[in-house]
Amino acid sequence: MQASRRARPQPRWIDPFAPEHIRRLVAEFGSPLLVIDCARVRAQYRSLARALPGVDLHYALKPLPHAAVIETIREEGGFFDLATTGEVQLVSRLGVDAARCIHTHPIKRDIDIRNALHAGVRLFVADNVDELEKFIPYRAETGLLLRVSFRAPGAVCDLSRKFGCDPEALPGLARRARELGLTVRGLSFHVGSQAPNALKHLEAIETCQRLLAQARRERLGPFDTLDIGGGFPIGYGQRAPEIGRFCAPLRKALAKLPRRVRVIAEPGRFIAGPAAIGVASVMGRAEREGHWWYYLDDGLYGSYSGQIYDHARYPVEALRGGEERFPSVLAGPTCDSIDVIAENLMLPRLRPGDLIVGRSMGAYTWASASEFNFFPRATVVAVNRHPGDAGGV
Ligand SMILES: *Cc1c(COP(=O)(O)O)cnc(C)c1O
Repeated sequence: MQASRRARPQPRWIDPFAPEHIRRLVAEFGSPLLVIDCARVRAQYRSLARALPGVDLHYALKPLPHAAVIETIREEGGFFDLATTGEVQLVSRLGVDAARCIHTHPIKRDIDIRNALHAGVRLFVADNVDELEKFIPYRAETGLLLRVSFRAPGAVCDLSRKFGCDPEALPGLARRARELGLTVRGLSFHVGSQAPNALKHLEAIETCQRLLAQARRERLGPFDTLDIGGGFPIGYGQRAPEIGRFCAPLRKALAKLPRRVRVIAEPGRFIAGPAAIGVASVMGRAEREGHWWYYLDDGLYGSYSGQIYDHARYPVEALRGGEERFPSVLAGPTCDSIDVIAENLMLPRLRPGDLIVGRSMGAYTWASASEFNFFPRATVVAVNRHPGDAGGV
């Protein structure tokens, strides 16, 4: 269910994460909700743009493929990273200029390539010879980035295990691309999401700089683009490294690239994560073995799916105040025993209808939610959609 409803035009900027506004939104739109604050999307975009000057930011739709986020990024002058036909269709429907989009799935069917081409997307990613050959029929109209893998066994999500060509094998792949008459515009990588520090990005930039230079020497193609992927971290309850500081070594490494190299990045989590909260309601409660169990209308099969797939832990709180606190469990609505959001919390005594708020829930949450047991996905409400509403953010 694409249950997104537009919030009515807001008279002015509100902070939708403040308790009184959360209550008002639930009164108006029901529960569960995913509340997207476009002012926070803008603020995240701008702080990453400041931290990486000269780098074109392609918002990766995957963590939160929602029109409000896409339109906000477009208004900021941003670019987009698409991976599937559904994502291509979503940005097309919103009238996004295809020249601002790249298609970055390393493994594609012919129909995926044709759908993206039909929409006007011209730059694609490949990481092996099979994928190169799929572009032979389209070589006149397409450019390619070759994805290089940099293993990050420590990363929460090590994307280089599944995709990418070993750096040592890259020159051979680039030579093959030239033999096939393909245009290689450059290299890309993704060091893994929620990077603990900038070391992997740094290693990847330095290796790619060497590989770009080698490919230019061999005249294997333009090799004038470097795509440094995503992975920029956010805080979940505890503080993440400040993004300007996280990017400082990257800025230094990127400054050593030849001027003709266009640098792009594909942030997803960093843009979307802090920009949304999940709001769920208590459906019922029971006291079991000295703990209060609260059964919510959202859980691990819904917006909290990121606690399984994305290995995240969202900071949760009850909107009800109260001095006295009791050991409590927050459970999802389904009849599955795994569907427990948090245990050993100290919460005030809650009642049916009380609201539970999960913070930093924009990325890899609602996007991966299911409707298991016929509990509907959260309704998405987006507020502060226009910069004029944004009260100086
Ligand atoms: C998921 C993904 C991203 C976004 O990564 P984040 O870590 O969320 O920034 C970017 N590029 C590609 C190719 C991806 O698959």
